[in-house]
Amino acid sequence: MSKKLTDCVGRVVTRAQGREDSRRSDRRKKRYAVYIRVSGSSQSEELQINAAKKWAEANGIPWNEIEKFNEHSLSANKVVMENRPELIRLLNAIKSGQINCVLVFTRCRVARNFFEYDEITDIFNAAKIDVFFTCTETPPYSRDKLIEGIYGIQIQSEGQNIKARLNDVHNMNPHQKFGYVNDNKQYSADERYQYKIKKAFEAASKVEGFKELLKIILSYKKEFKRKDVEDTWKLLRTPFYAGYYQKGLDYFQLEHVEPIIELELFQRVQIVLDLYEQRLIDTIIVSREQSYLTPVCGVCKKKMIHKNTRVGEAAFYKCEVHKKHRITTEEINQTLEAAFREVINSISEQELKYVCIRSINNALKEMRKKKEELGTQLLNVRMNFAMKFGLHNQKEKDLHLKSVNSLLSESEEISDQIVDLSNTQSIVNGLVKIVKEGLVAELQKEKLQLFIYFLIKEVVVFYDSIELEVFLAEFLGGEKHVQK
Ligand SMILES: [Zn+2]
Repeated sequence: MSKKLTDCVGRVVTRAQGREDSRRSDRRKKRYAVYIRVSGSSQSEELQINAAKKWAEANGIPWNEIEKFNEHSLSANKVVMENRPELIRLLNAIKSGQINCVLVFTRCRVARNFFEYDEITDIFNAAKIDVFFTCTETPPYSRDKLIEGIYGIQIQSEGQNIKARLNDVHNMNPHQKFGYVNDNKQYSADERYQYKIKKAFEAASKVEGFKELLKIILSYKKEFKRKDVEDTWKLLRTPFYAGYYQKGLDYFQLEHVEPIIELELFQRVQIVLDLYEQRLIDTIIVSREQSYLTPVCGVCKKKMIHKNTRVGEAAFYKCEVHKKHRITTEEINQTLEAAFREVINSISEQELKYVCIRSINNALKEMRKKKEELGTQLLNVRMNFAMKFGLHNQKEKDLHLKSVNSLLSESEEISDQIVDLSNTQSIVNGLVKIVKEGLVAELQKEKLQLFIYFLIKEVVVFYDSIELEVFLAEFLGGEKHVQK
């Protein structure tokens, strides 16, 4: 038993050691991510992407080295943080140390209210990552909680005002409205679409299940040449077609708009849409879903490329070189989840608790001690210098600065490692709890993703099998092969 324990201790520290080593070799190496979110058809995704590309070019970072987190136009007003899968994926990548530099257009792309912003910046700061706003007018990110908090409050009031103002003006007098001819702010129904729009509302009011609704939306998306499913969905959410404007629960008639449908029909459709809205969001997520980890092609070892599909089908990855080599996000995630469960079930709670936590605690203790020693050394070097040398001796001054800087950077490195190890510790705590309470089956997706980041290093996809490279491999007995 004791031999096994030592092994485990060795390996647990080895894993942290591995990360230190890679950190040392490319200590300043940044792992970049860009986060993109648009919140309405008026906001261009293109704008955010171009700003990020420009930033990358100015800073000499190849665009393909930046991992993309794109929410696309998923975010209807109702969509809260839990329904922003790409944000959750980004935050998990940050927590696990896979990303340490984030590009984003402006603060309001990160969050739409203060509390959410506060929560997210806490994660940024705990991981000590760099954040850059690519919109040139946006004041730079500050690690000072007070300063960033003030910007956070601004986001909220700005967001709400803009939203209310834009909604009012735009909803009553849209520049262009699909299905209408705008003649000097008098809106008359466009004969080409009038009948089809009415049919769409009628069909939606009568559906008997989500699949049927999705089918209708997909077919009208094509017929109306809408850019995506969300856009078609929004069309069915627009009281303008009944000649009304909605504020809260009240409807106001718009005298300048010729109604295409009755208000009563519009309201019946809203009941149907309310019923299936969450289902639609989930289905859209599946069609665009990214896997927990980006898989690697087993043949050429290149990262595979993520592809969205039609809503209602599952997103997949394919190799850019071996174009026929593809695998669905679902399959990768199922494999990862199964492997994760196997790891969890194969380790005993005792081992985890006593071995991992104790070894991590010991390592932490040593690092803190080392940091203290460095602090004392630094003080001594500075005192020595102050007492022995005058300020005019340039050579001595340079030498002094050199040794101060090297002590400071060594100390900074240890601080980083302490943060790293503390994170690992919280992961272990979480794992112990899961084993103890048998919660694996009920684990939330975000939590699962975080654990998978920490346990699994790489997913390699071959034509007939998937290979997982696992951290803490002693718990699994080496690499893991899964038949496809
Ligand atoms: Zn390949």
